[in-house]
Amino acid sequence: MQASNVKPRLFGTNGVRGVYGQDLTHDLVIDISYALGTYFGKGAIVVGYDGRKSHLVLSRLVRSTLNSAGLDTANAGLIPTPCLQYAAKRLGYNGGIMITASHNPPEYNGIKPTAADGVEIPREDELKVEDIYYSKRFDRIDGTGQDYNDHNIVGRYIEAVLALIDVERIKQRKFTVVMDTGNGAQAVVAPIIAKKLDCKVIVINGEIDGDFPSRGSEPTPDNLEILSEAVRSAGADFGVAYDGDGDRSIFCDNTGAIYMGDKTGALLVKHLLSQKHKGSEVVCPINTSMILSAVAEQAGSKIIYTKVGSVEVSREMVKRSCPLGLEENGGFMYGPLNEVRDGAMATALMLDMIAASDMSLSHQIAHLPQSFQYKTKFSCPSREAVDKIIKICIEHGSPQKIETLDGAKIWIDDETWLMLRPSGTEPLIRMYAESTDKSLLDSKVDEYRRYVRSQIS
Ligand code: MG
Repeated sequence: MQASNVKPRLFGTNGVRGVYGQDLTHDLVIDISYALGTYFGKGAIVVGYDGRKSHLVLSRLVRSTLNSAGLDTANAGLIPTPCLQYAAKRLGYNGGIMITASHNPPEYNGIKPTAADGVEIPREDELKVEDIYYSKRFDRIDGTGQDYNDHNIVGRYIEAVLALIDVERIKQRKFTVVMDTGNGAQAVVAPIIAKKLDCKVIVINGEIDGDFPSRGSEPTPDNLEILSEAVRSAGADFGVAYDGDGDRSIFCDNTGAIYMGDKTGALLVKHLLSQKHKGSEVVCPINTSMILSAVAEQAGSKIIYTKVGSVEVSREMVKRSCPLGLEENGGFMYGPLNEVRDGAMATALMLDMIAASDMSLSHQIAHLPQSFQYKTKFSCPSREAVDKIIKICIEHGSPQKIETLDGAKIWIDDETWLMLRPSGTEPLIRMYAESTDKSLLDSKVDEYRRYVRSQIS
Protein backbone atom coordinates (compact mmCIF):
# COMPACT_ATOMS: atom_id res chain seq x y z
CA MET A 1 0.00 0.00 0.00
CA GLN A 2 1.40 3.38 -1.05
CA ALA A 3 1.32 5.86 1.82
CA SER A 4 0.79 8.80 -0.55
CA ASN A 5 -2.35 7.17 -1.99
CA VAL A 6 -4.21 6.93 1.31
CA LYS A 7 -3.14 10.17 2.99
CA PRO A 8 -5.39 13.18 2.35
CA ARG A 9 -3.96 15.98 0.21
CA LEU A 10 -2.79 18.96 2.24
CA PHE A 11 -2.44 21.38 -0.66
CA GLY A 12 -5.60 22.78 -2.23
CA THR A 13 -5.77 25.02 -5.31
CA ASN A 14 -3.39 27.48 -3.73
CA GLY A 15 -1.41 26.42 -0.70
CA VAL A 16 -2.49 24.64 2.48
CA ARG A 17 -5.59 26.28 3.89
CA GLY A 18 -7.98 25.59 6.73
CA VAL A 19 -9.92 27.05 9.64
CA TYR A 20 -7.30 28.34 12.08
CA GLY A 21 -7.17 26.22 15.24
CA GLN A 22 -9.42 23.50 13.78
CA ASP A 23 -7.96 22.17 10.50
CA LEU A 24 -4.99 24.51 10.48
CA THR A 25 -3.61 23.56 13.91
CA HIS A 26 -0.24 24.62 15.29
CA ASP A 27 0.94 20.98 15.07
CA LEU A 28 0.09 20.94 11.36
CA VAL A 29 1.79 24.29 10.75
CA ILE A 30 4.97 23.18 12.56
CA ASP A 31 5.21 19.92 10.62
CA ILE A 32 4.42 21.61 7.29
CA SER A 33 7.13 24.16 8.08
CA TYR A 34 9.61 21.39 8.83
CA ALA A 35 8.59 19.66 5.59
CA LEU A 36 9.08 22.91 3.67
CA GLY A 37 12.42 23.48 5.40
CA THR A 38 13.54 20.05 4.23
CA TYR A 39 12.19 20.74 0.73
CA PHE A 40 13.88 24.17 0.43
CA GLY A 41 17.11 22.71 1.89
CA LYS A 42 18.65 26.07 2.62
CA GLY A 43 17.61 29.62 3.46
CA ALA A 44 17.09 32.37 3.67
CA ILE A 45 13.32 32.05 3.36
CA VAL A 46 11.20 35.21 3.27
CA VAL A 47 7.94 35.02 5.26
CA GLY A 48 5.04 37.47 4.92
CA TYR A 49 1.41 37.64 5.95
CA ASP A 50 -1.89 39.30 5.12
CA GLY A 51 -4.18 40.93 7.69
CA ARG A 52 -5.93 37.82 9.06
CA LYS A 53 -6.16 37.76 12.85
CA SER A 54 -3.95 34.68 13.26
CA HIS A 55 -1.15 36.16 11.15
CA LEU A 56 1.31 37.12 13.90
CA VAL A 57 1.16 33.78 15.70
CA LEU A 58 1.46 31.83 12.46
CA SER A 59 4.31 33.94 11.09
CA ARG A 60 6.28 33.49 14.34
CA LEU A 61 5.53 29.78 14.31
CA VAL A 62 6.64 29.29 10.71
CA ARG A 63 9.81 31.37 11.13
CA SER A 64 10.90 29.83 14.43
CA THR A 65 10.26 26.32 13.08
CA LEU A 66 12.41 27.08 10.01
CA ASN A 67 15.07 28.58 12.31
CA SER A 68 15.03 25.43 14.41
CA ALA A 69 15.58 23.47 11.18
CA GLY A 70 18.72 25.53 10.57
CA LEU A 71 17.28 27.88 7.93
CA ASP A 72 17.55 31.66 8.17
CA THR A 73 14.30 33.59 7.73
CA ALA A 74 13.33 37.15 6.91
CA ASN A 75 10.17 38.67 8.33
CA ALA A 76 8.59 40.66 5.50
CA GLY A 77 5.67 41.74 7.71
CA LEU A 78 2.25 42.55 6.32
CA ILE A 79 2.48 42.68 2.53
CA PRO A 80 0.44 41.54 -0.48
CA THR A 81 1.26 38.04 -1.75
CA PRO A 82 2.74 39.30 -5.08
CA CYS A 83 5.23 41.49 -3.15
CA LEU A 84 6.38 38.46 -1.16
CA GLN A 85 6.73 36.47 -4.36
CA TYR A 86 8.70 39.28 -5.98
CA ALA A 87 11.07 39.27 -2.97
CA ALA A 88 11.56 35.49 -3.29
CA LYS A 89 12.45 35.94 -6.98
CA ARG A 90 14.60 39.07 -6.98
CA LEU A 91 15.88 39.86 -3.48
CA GLY A 92 18.19 36.93 -2.91
CA TYR A 93 15.98 34.46 -1.05
CA ASN A 94 15.85 30.73 -1.60
CA GLY A 95 12.07 30.65 -1.30
CA GLY A 96 9.12 32.31 0.38
CA ILE A 97 6.15 31.47 2.55
CA MET A 98 3.03 33.61 2.63
CA ILE A 99 0.61 33.25 5.54
CA THR A 100 -2.71 33.77 3.79
CA ALA A 101 -6.04 32.21 2.94
CA SER A 102 -6.50 34.70 0.08
CA HIS A 103 -10.25 35.29 -0.40
CA ASN A 104 -11.51 32.59 2.03
CA PRO A 105 -13.73 33.61 5.00
CA PRO A 106 -12.04 35.28 8.05
CA GLU A 107 -11.75 32.11 10.15
CA TYR A 108 -9.43 30.56 7.55
CA ASN A 109 -5.72 30.97 7.18
CA GLY A 110 -3.09 29.14 5.17
CA ILE A 111 0.51 28.46 4.24
CA LYS A 112 1.46 29.28 0.66
CA PRO A 113 5.01 28.38 -0.40
CA THR A 114 6.80 30.17 -3.23
CA ALA A 115 9.85 28.75 -4.99
CA ALA A 116 13.08 30.73 -5.46
CA ASP A 117 11.87 31.67 -8.97
CA GLY A 118 9.03 33.71 -7.41
CA VAL A 119 6.20 31.39 -8.45
CA GLU A 120 4.19 28.95 -6.29
CA ILE A 121 5.98 25.60 -6.07
CA PRO A 122 4.91 23.21 -8.89
CA ARG A 123 2.11 20.68 -8.26
CA GLU A 124 4.57 17.75 -8.31
CA ASP A 125 6.64 19.50 -5.61
CA GLU A 126 3.52 19.88 -3.45
CA LEU A 127 3.38 16.08 -3.46
CA LYS A 128 7.07 15.92 -2.45
CA VAL A 129 6.36 18.25 0.49
CA GLU A 130 3.37 16.11 1.48
CA ASP A 131 5.50 12.96 1.36
CA ILE A 132 8.06 14.58 3.67
CA TYR A 133 5.25 15.77 5.94
CA TYR A 134 3.66 12.32 6.26
CA SER A 135 6.96 10.44 6.62
CA LYS A 136 8.25 13.02 9.17
CA ARG A 137 11.69 12.64 7.55
CA PHE A 138 12.83 16.14 8.42
CA ASP A 139 16.44 16.95 7.53
CA ARG A 140 17.58 18.35 10.84
CA ILE A 141 16.44 20.18 13.93
CA ASP A 142 19.44 22.04 15.28
CA GLY A 143 18.13 25.47 16.15
CA THR A 144 20.85 27.36 14.29
CA GLY A 145 18.78 29.57 11.92
CA GLN A 146 18.58 33.34 12.35
CA ASP A 147 15.54 35.57 11.93
CA TYR A 148 15.72 39.20 10.80
CA ASN A 149 13.39 41.86 9.41
CA ASP A 150 13.39 42.94 5.75
CA HIS A 151 11.88 46.42 5.46
CA ASN A 152 13.00 47.04 1.89
CA ILE A 153 10.63 44.75 0.02
CA VAL A 154 7.74 47.14 -0.67
CA GLY A 155 10.10 49.90 -1.86
CA ARG A 156 12.05 47.61 -4.18
CA TYR A 157 8.83 46.08 -5.49
CA ILE A 158 7.29 49.48 -6.29
CA GLU A 159 10.44 50.53 -8.20
CA ALA A 160 10.22 47.32 -10.26
CA VAL A 161 6.54 47.90 -11.13
CA LEU A 162 7.17 51.51 -12.18
CA ALA A 163 10.06 50.41 -14.43
CA LEU A 164 7.61 48.41 -16.57
CA ILE A 165 5.15 51.20 -17.45
CA ASP A 166 5.26 54.63 -19.11
CA VAL A 167 5.45 56.72 -15.94
CA GLU A 168 5.68 60.15 -17.61
CA ARG A 169 2.75 59.53 -19.92
CA ILE A 170 0.59 58.42 -16.98
CA LYS A 171 1.64 61.37 -14.80
CA GLN A 172 0.57 63.86 -17.49
CA ARG A 173 -2.99 62.57 -17.38
CA LYS A 174 -3.59 63.22 -13.63
CA PHE A 175 -5.99 60.29 -13.37
CA THR A 176 -8.50 59.84 -10.54
CA VAL A 177 -8.66 56.27 -9.24
CA VAL A 178 -10.88 54.73 -6.55
CA MET A 179 -9.28 51.76 -4.77
CA ASP A 180 -11.35 49.37 -2.66
CA THR A 181 -8.64 47.51 -0.79
CA GLY A 182 -11.33 45.49 1.03
CA ASN A 183 -9.58 45.65 4.46
CA GLY A 184 -6.83 43.57 2.84
CA ALA A 185 -3.08 43.74 2.32
CA GLN A 186 -3.04 45.74 -0.94
CA ALA A 187 -3.80 48.82 1.22
CA VAL A 188 -0.05 49.04 1.94
CA VAL A 189 1.09 49.06 -1.72
CA ALA A 190 -1.40 49.86 -4.51
CA PRO A 191 -2.37 53.38 -3.33
CA ILE A 192 1.33 54.30 -3.02
CA ILE A 193 1.98 53.26 -6.63
CA ALA A 194 -0.97 55.31 -7.91
CA LYS A 195 0.15 58.36 -5.91
CA LYS A 196 3.67 58.05 -7.37
CA LEU A 197 1.97 58.24 -10.78
CA ASP A 198 0.37 61.58 -9.81
CA CYS A 199 -3.09 60.06 -9.57
CA LYS A 200 -5.73 61.40 -7.23
CA VAL A 201 -6.39 58.29 -5.15
CA ILE A 202 -9.57 57.66 -3.18
CA VAL A 203 -9.21 54.61 -0.94
CA ILE A 204 -12.26 52.86 0.49
CA ASN A 205 -12.18 50.01 3.05
CA GLY A 206 -8.53 50.89 3.58
CA GLU A 207 -8.13 49.75 7.19
CA ILE A 208 -6.49 46.34 7.53
CA ASP A 209 -9.00 44.08 9.30
CA GLY A 210 -8.83 40.28 9.23
CA ASP A 211 -12.60 40.05 9.73
CA PHE A 212 -13.11 41.77 6.34
CA PRO A 213 -16.18 43.64 7.73
CA SER A 214 -16.89 45.79 4.65
CA ARG A 215 -17.55 43.38 1.78
CA GLY A 216 -15.77 40.14 2.61
CA SER A 217 -12.35 39.25 1.26
CA GLU A 218 -13.40 38.23 -2.27
CA PRO A 219 -14.30 41.03 -4.69
CA THR A 220 -17.05 39.98 -7.08
CA PRO A 221 -19.25 41.96 -9.46
CA ASP A 222 -22.08 41.56 -6.89
CA ASN A 223 -20.43 43.11 -3.80
CA LEU A 224 -18.78 46.22 -5.18
CA GLU A 225 -21.72 48.66 -5.22
CA ILE A 226 -19.88 51.12 -2.93
CA LEU A 227 -16.88 51.13 -5.28
CA SER A 228 -19.17 51.70 -8.23
CA GLU A 229 -20.92 54.63 -6.48
CA ALA A 230 -17.60 56.13 -5.40
CA VAL A 231 -16.29 56.05 -8.97
CA ARG A 232 -19.45 57.75 -10.28
CA SER A 233 -19.58 60.44 -7.60
CA ALA A 234 -15.85 61.24 -7.93
CA GLY A 235 -15.98 61.22 -11.73
CA ALA A 236 -13.02 58.84 -11.53
CA ASP A 237 -11.26 57.31 -14.53
CA PHE A 238 -11.73 53.85 -13.04
CA GLY A 239 -12.04 51.88 -9.82
CA VAL A 240 -10.37 48.71 -8.67
CA ALA A 241 -11.03 46.22 -5.85
CA TYR A 242 -8.57 43.68 -4.43
CA ASP A 243 -8.93 40.41 -2.54
CA GLY A 244 -7.58 39.81 0.97
CA ASP A 245 -3.97 39.17 -0.05
CA GLY A 246 -3.93 41.52 -3.02
CA ASP A 247 -3.16 39.21 -5.89
CA ARG A 248 -6.56 39.58 -7.53
CA SER A 249 -8.04 42.78 -8.95
CA ILE A 250 -11.55 43.49 -10.22
CA PHE A 251 -12.04 46.69 -12.22
CA CYS A 252 -14.87 49.17 -12.48
CA ASP A 253 -15.03 51.55 -15.45
CA ASN A 254 -15.63 55.32 -15.40
CA THR A 255 -19.42 54.80 -15.53
CA GLY A 256 -19.39 52.52 -12.47
CA ALA A 257 -19.86 49.26 -14.39
CA ILE A 258 -17.99 46.34 -12.85
CA TYR A 259 -16.41 43.60 -14.96
CA MET A 260 -15.23 40.09 -14.53
CA GLY A 261 -11.46 39.75 -14.70
CA ASP A 262 -11.29 38.15 -18.12
CA LYS A 263 -13.00 41.12 -19.78
CA THR A 264 -10.63 43.75 -18.38
CA GLY A 265 -7.81 41.19 -18.66
CA ALA A 266 -8.57 40.82 -22.38
CA LEU A 267 -8.28 44.60 -22.70
CA LEU A 268 -4.87 44.60 -20.99
CA VAL A 269 -3.77 41.73 -23.24
CA LYS A 270 -4.94 43.68 -26.32
CA HIS A 271 -2.91 46.68 -25.15
CA LEU A 272 0.22 44.62 -24.45
CA LEU A 273 -0.03 42.56 -27.67
CA SER A 274 -0.25 45.80 -29.66
CA GLN A 275 2.82 47.32 -28.00
CA LYS A 276 5.63 45.56 -26.13
CA HIS A 277 4.58 41.97 -26.68
CA LYS A 278 3.57 41.58 -30.35
CA GLY A 279 2.99 37.93 -31.24
CA SER A 280 3.32 36.59 -27.68
CA GLU A 281 1.30 33.60 -26.54
CA VAL A 282 -1.26 34.12 -23.77
CA VAL A 283 -1.82 31.50 -21.06
CA CYS A 284 -5.20 31.12 -19.32
CA PRO A 285 -7.43 28.46 -17.76
CA ILE A 286 -10.09 26.69 -19.76
CA ASN A 287 -12.93 28.67 -18.11
CA THR A 288 -11.70 31.99 -19.59
CA SER A 289 -13.99 34.15 -21.73
CA MET A 290 -14.12 33.73 -25.50
CA ILE A 291 -13.40 37.49 -25.62
CA LEU A 292 -9.76 36.72 -24.85
CA SER A 293 -9.46 34.22 -27.69
CA ALA A 294 -11.07 36.75 -30.06
CA VAL A 295 -8.60 39.46 -28.98
CA ALA A 296 -5.62 37.12 -29.33
CA GLU A 297 -6.80 35.96 -32.73
CA GLN A 298 -7.16 39.57 -33.96
CA ALA A 299 -3.57 40.21 -32.82
CA GLY A 300 -2.26 37.04 -34.48
CA SER A 301 -1.46 35.41 -31.12
CA LYS A 302 -2.18 32.00 -29.73
CA ILE A 303 -3.96 31.05 -26.47
CA ILE A 304 -2.58 28.20 -24.36
CA TYR A 305 -5.28 26.68 -22.12
CA THR A 306 -4.58 25.08 -18.73
CA LYS A 307 -6.60 23.55 -15.94
CA VAL A 308 -8.23 26.09 -13.64
CA GLY A 309 -5.86 27.39 -10.98
CA SER A 310 -3.31 30.15 -10.96
CA VAL A 311 -0.43 27.75 -10.29
CA GLU A 312 -1.17 25.91 -13.57
CA VAL A 313 -1.17 29.22 -15.48
CA SER A 314 1.96 30.56 -13.76
CA ARG A 315 3.97 27.38 -14.26
CA GLU A 316 2.95 27.20 -17.95
CA MET A 317 4.08 30.83 -18.38
CA VAL A 318 7.46 29.99 -16.81
CA LYS A 319 7.82 26.91 -19.01
CA ARG A 320 7.10 28.87 -22.20
CA SER A 321 8.74 32.17 -21.14
CA CYS A 322 5.35 33.68 -21.86
CA PRO A 323 4.82 37.26 -20.63
CA LEU A 324 1.00 37.24 -20.43
CA GLY A 325 -1.41 35.17 -18.36
CA LEU A 326 -4.71 35.64 -16.61
CA GLU A 327 -7.56 34.11 -14.66
CA GLU A 328 -11.21 35.08 -15.00
CA ASN A 329 -11.46 35.92 -11.28
CA GLY A 330 -9.19 38.94 -11.64
CA GLY A 331 -5.80 37.26 -11.50
CA PHE A 332 -3.72 39.11 -14.08
CA MET A 333 -0.11 37.94 -14.52
CA TYR A 334 2.65 39.95 -16.13
CA GLY A 335 5.77 37.88 -16.70
CA PRO A 336 8.30 40.73 -17.03
CA LEU A 337 7.71 41.39 -13.30
CA ASN A 338 6.79 37.85 -12.21
CA GLU A 339 4.59 35.06 -13.57
CA VAL A 340 2.05 35.38 -10.75
CA ARG A 341 -1.26 37.12 -10.15
CA ASP A 342 -0.65 40.67 -9.05
CA GLY A 343 -3.34 43.27 -8.27
CA ALA A 344 -0.97 46.23 -8.08
CA MET A 345 0.86 45.35 -11.32
CA ALA A 346 -2.52 44.92 -13.06
CA THR A 347 -3.58 48.37 -11.83
CA ALA A 348 -0.33 49.92 -13.07
CA LEU A 349 -0.89 48.29 -16.48
CA MET A 350 -4.48 49.59 -16.52
CA LEU A 351 -3.15 53.13 -15.98
CA ASP A 352 -0.56 52.52 -18.72
CA MET A 353 -3.28 51.33 -21.09
CA ILE A 354 -5.67 54.23 -20.48
CA ALA A 355 -2.80 56.73 -20.78
CA ALA A 356 -1.87 55.25 -24.18
CA SER A 357 -5.35 55.89 -25.58
CA ASP A 358 -7.68 58.83 -25.95
CA MET A 359 -10.65 56.60 -25.10
CA SER A 360 -12.13 56.15 -21.62
CA LEU A 361 -12.15 52.68 -20.09
CA SER A 362 -15.88 52.26 -20.79
CA HIS A 363 -15.31 53.11 -24.47
CA GLN A 364 -12.41 50.69 -24.72
CA ILE A 365 -14.55 47.94 -23.21
CA ALA A 366 -17.37 48.75 -25.63
CA HIS A 367 -14.92 48.11 -28.50
CA LEU A 368 -14.17 44.56 -27.27
CA PRO A 369 -15.96 41.63 -28.90
CA GLN A 370 -19.25 41.15 -27.03
CA SER A 371 -20.33 38.18 -24.98
CA PHE A 372 -22.49 37.53 -21.93
CA GLN A 373 -21.14 35.74 -18.89
CA TYR A 374 -22.55 34.14 -15.80
CA LYS A 375 -20.88 32.73 -12.73
CA THR A 376 -22.20 31.16 -9.55
CA LYS A 377 -21.39 28.53 -6.97
CA PHE A 378 -23.36 25.80 -5.25
CA SER A 379 -22.62 24.57 -1.70
CA CYS A 380 -22.64 20.79 -1.50
CA PRO A 381 -22.73 18.50 1.54
CA SER A 382 -19.35 16.91 0.73
CA ARG A 383 -16.54 16.69 -1.79
CA GLU A 384 -17.89 13.29 -2.90
CA ALA A 385 -21.25 14.90 -3.67
CA VAL A 386 -19.48 17.55 -5.75
CA ASP A 387 -17.83 14.92 -7.98
CA LYS A 388 -21.01 12.88 -8.29
CA ILE A 389 -23.16 15.86 -9.31
CA ILE A 390 -20.64 17.01 -11.96
CA LYS A 391 -20.63 13.48 -13.39
CA ILE A 392 -24.45 13.45 -13.55
CA CYS A 393 -24.45 16.86 -15.30
CA ILE A 394 -22.13 15.53 -18.05
CA GLU A 395 -24.90 13.11 -18.99
CA HIS A 396 -27.62 15.79 -18.94
CA GLY A 397 -29.14 17.03 -22.23
CA SER A 398 -27.46 16.68 -25.63
CA PRO A 399 -24.56 19.16 -25.86
CA GLN A 400 -22.43 19.70 -28.96
CA LYS A 401 -19.21 18.67 -27.20
CA ILE A 402 -17.73 18.27 -23.71
CA GLU A 403 -14.16 19.07 -22.71
CA THR A 404 -12.86 17.44 -19.54
CA LEU A 405 -9.46 19.11 -19.10
CA ASP A 406 -10.88 20.28 -15.74
CA GLY A 407 -14.38 19.38 -14.50
CA ALA A 408 -16.75 19.58 -17.46
CA LYS A 409 -16.91 22.33 -20.09
CA ILE A 410 -20.19 21.75 -21.87
CA TRP A 411 -20.46 23.36 -25.31
CA ILE A 412 -24.08 23.98 -26.29
CA ASP A 413 -23.05 25.45 -29.67
CA ASP A 414 -19.91 27.14 -31.11
CA GLU A 415 -20.47 30.28 -29.06
CA THR A 416 -22.23 29.02 -25.91
CA TRP A 417 -20.73 27.00 -23.06
CA LEU A 418 -21.24 26.15 -19.39
CA MET A 419 -18.57 24.79 -17.13
CA LEU A 420 -18.90 22.96 -13.80
CA ARG A 421 -15.89 22.20 -11.66
CA PRO A 422 -15.10 21.37 -8.04
CA SER A 423 -13.60 24.13 -5.87
CA GLY A 424 -10.10 23.20 -4.71
CA THR A 425 -10.66 24.46 -1.18
CA GLU A 426 -14.32 24.02 -0.17
CA PRO A 427 -17.15 21.54 -0.92
CA LEU A 428 -18.50 23.74 -3.70
CA ILE A 429 -19.35 23.42 -7.36
CA ARG A 430 -18.32 26.48 -9.33
CA MET A 431 -20.34 27.18 -12.45
CA TYR A 432 -19.22 29.44 -15.29
CA ALA A 433 -21.16 30.13 -18.48
CA GLU A 434 -20.78 32.30 -21.55
CA SER A 435 -22.57 32.97 -24.80
CA THR A 436 -22.82 35.57 -27.53
CA ASP A 437 -26.62 35.00 -27.28
CA LYS A 438 -28.07 36.44 -24.08
CA SER A 439 -31.39 34.62 -24.15
CA LEU A 440 -29.75 31.26 -24.88
CA LEU A 441 -27.32 31.88 -22.01
CA ASP A 442 -30.17 32.73 -19.63
CA SER A 443 -32.18 29.66 -20.51
CA LYS A 444 -29.19 27.28 -20.31
CA VAL A 445 -27.99 28.77 -17.01
CA ASP A 446 -31.51 28.45 -15.61
CA GLU A 447 -31.76 24.85 -16.82
CA TYR A 448 -28.42 23.75 -15.36
CA ARG A 449 -28.89 25.74 -12.15
CA ARG A 450 -32.18 23.98 -11.49
CA TYR A 451 -30.68 20.62 -12.47
CA VAL A 452 -27.67 21.01 -10.13
CA ARG A 453 -29.89 22.16 -7.26
CA SER A 454 -32.24 19.23 -7.74
CA GLN A 455 -29.25 16.88 -7.51
CA ILE A 456 -27.98 18.53 -4.30
CA SER A 457 -31.30 18.29 -2.42
MG1 MG B 1 -5.68 36.02 -3.35
